[in-house]
Amino acid sequence: MQRLTKQGKLYDVCIVGSGAGGGMAAYALTKAGADVVVLEAGEPWDNAKDSAMLTWPYESPRRGRSTKERPFGEFDACIGGWELPGEPYTRAPGTEFAWWRARMVGGRTNHWGRISLRFGPYDFKRKSRDGLGDDWPISYDDVAPYYDQIDRLIGVFGSKESLPNEPNGVFLPPPLPRCHELLVKQAADRLHVTCIPARLSILTRPLNGRAACHYCGQCNRGCKVNANFTATNVLIAPALATGKLTLLTNAMAREVLVDTGGRATGVAYIDKTTGTDRRVRAKVVVLAASALETARLLLNSTSSRFPNGLANSSGTVGKYITDTTGTDVGGFIPKMMDHVPHNHDGVGGMHLYMPWWLDNAKLDFPRGYHIEVWGGTQVPSYGFMSGIHRYPSGGGYGKQLKDDYRRYYGATIGFSGRGEMIPNDGSYCEIDSSTVDRWGIPVLRFHWKWTDHEYKQVKHMQETFRALIAEMGGQPSSPMPTAKQGYGIAAGGVIIHELGGARMGDDPKTSVTNRWCQAHDCKNLFVTDGGPFVSQADKNPTWTILALSMRTSDYIADQVKKGTL
Ligand SMILES: Cc1cc2nc3c(=O)[nH]c(=O)nc-3n(C[C@H](O)[C@H](O)[C@H](O)COP(=O)(O)OP(=O)(O)OC[C@H]3O[C@@H](n4cnc5c(N)ncnc54)[C@H](O)[C@@H]3O)c2cc1C
Ligand code: SF4
Repeated sequence: MQRLTKQGKLYDVCIVGSGAGGGMAAYALTKAGADVVVLEAGEPWDNAKDSAMLTWPYESPRRGRSTKERPFGEFDACIGGWELPGEPYTRAPGTEFAWWRARMVGGRTNHWGRISLRFGPYDFKRKSRDGLGDDWPISYDDVAPYYDQIDRLIGVFGSKESLPNEPNGVFLPPPLPRCHELLVKQAADRLHVTCIPARLSILTRPLNGRAACHYCGQCNRGCKVNANFTATNVLIAPALATGKLTLLTNAMAREVLVDTGGRATGVAYIDKTTGTDRRVRAKVVVLAASALETARLLLNSTSSRFPNGLANSSGTVGKYITDTTGTDVGGFIPKMMDHVPHNHDGVGGMHLYMPWWLDNAKLDFPRGYHIEVWGGTQVPSYGFMSGIHRYPSGGGYGKQLKDDYRRYYGATIGFSGRGEMIPNDGSYCEIDSSTVDRWGIPVLRFHWKWTDHEYKQVKHMQETFRALIAEMGGQPSSPMPTAKQGYGIAAGGVIIHELGGARMGDDPKTSVTNRWCQAHDCKNLFVTDGGPFVSQADKNPTWTILALSMRTSDYIADQVKKGTL
């Protein structure tokens, strides 16, 4: 790792974080010729060398079971988790919230599901449609050219359906549905639930020097041939190849530094390998540490000029935070038992999904959700479909046990609803002045509240999933959750789509950043993670984080050229 002092080099741009938002900014800005330094709190990673792809469970005494550092299984690519040693966060009394953080080059894009959905035209203007929350200051048309560019650069498969709020993209051909997905499609068609090919950033054709997927189904382990998207190998690696990027790993940003005129001058960080304080100087600072960590950085960047935190004259840093609503139902499908052995290879994710298909005017909740599909046969991993004892006649010993494994293997289906939460005043984060992390940096305290909008939406998800399972002739593996159980809604943060905390807007009194993700209060400070999002949408957020990061990077390059930054 390169050591820098206060008098060290003056970079054009310092980016904090190397995940989706930071990786894209590093890629776009180095390609534009800027001299860039990235501060990344985690360690280096290279899919080609470090991935556990094609490791058999029997090669490990744990058989792939999860560890503390790898909650999604020991072969998973992503280093991080719900708890990080020495990096606590706190919750206000009564708050249920969990924060999943990655600590490695590429951030959470080393694991993510690669479900790559554009926000649609309605998603940017929700308040105008139903009076709730706020509109974005930009529209779909402002972002569309950037969605097109990232489709072409990164690659995404899908199908052009011309649905009103699920825009077409520049798609690679989608993989065909597998056996269990064909059954889902038949049931969905009978129930009039729209069911179309999934949209995942996995290459079904070679693209930009990267190989096509060979359908090993192990995307979460990191793809050794880089057929799926990670910021690590698809954005940071080419940025490094320009010779314009300095990547400082194990560099934990503490605060953004400002001069007396209120301009950002660089970032103070901890060199985690030695525990020492360091500084890096830059003409422009881009925060992309993930939405909530960016809010923490801003709130911790206090000075005589900005006593309540940087870019916080509106008091809205840390406010209007959201996560996707979510609940799941699995089911046993007897007609999938005793199946004939067949090729069920595929990508490490679903081949079909169900975008929002209903009219809210006929429902008792606003906004929508999409349905993700799982189940069927996959490469065997730790455990057996939540336990063989759960299946009729399952369990026992010897031959019966082996026969039951063969009989039931793959005879399950599952649905996950992922929906839109509306920002509310009870969901926000702030600095907990009584708790610091291992480097003495004050931590975040979370407040979280679901409203009736979200509970009713999740109840509808549960009812729909149960109807789909019944239509397939199956039985759900859990009873319908009650109102007291929140209809099975996942706690805040658990779906790992947290957004907001530095929302964009035209009015500096009610927003942190402007339409270019540029701080109203500090012209050479930008945010390119999920912080500037005004609303959540019923889509997974990363394709929009990438598109906005590219858009902001173009803006920075343009403003530098014009001499206005
Ligand atoms: C299991 C899982 C499945 C997911 N599936 C999907 C999906 O299918 N589709 C989708 O759209 N999204 C999905 N997501 C969410 C997606 O991963 C995130 O939206 C995306 O990675 C956010 O990008 P980011 O750049 O904001 O943050 P990150 O990717 O988390 O990157 C932030 C980076 O900043 C670094 N950092 C943090 N704090 C500091 C600091 N103080 N100093 C220096 N560096 C710091 C971190 O180490 C990290 O590398 C999933 C996430 C997970 C974990
Ligand atoms: S399924 Fe395809 S993209 Fe995923 S790890 Fe295997 S080869 Fe790579």
